[in-house]
Amino acid sequence: MCKISCDSCGRSIRQDKFKDKATGMEYCKSCCTRSGQLKPYEEIKNELVKFYMEFYDYPKSAAEKFVISKLKSMPAWEKREYY
Ligand SMILES: [Zn+2]
Repeated sequence: MCKISCDSCGRSIRQDKFKDKATGMEYCKSCCTRSGQLKPYEEIKNELVKFYMEFYDYPKSAAEKFVISKLKSMPAWEKREYY
């Protein structure tokens, strides 16, 4: 079984993954809009910060730092200059 992780947030994709035809990258449902487009960076960052605060009990500032550095290493964001 191959493990697939989201090219935007790095979380594993169990189902409802979306494949970008142009880049071949795969994203989880929470990184896409309903029409299957990758959400804007800010939106994904904010969602991930919330995710790490809720599930890992990170304080907000630590969660933000962590998410920003994590997104920098993700295929979907590493070439973008949003930081
Ligand atoms: Zn994702």
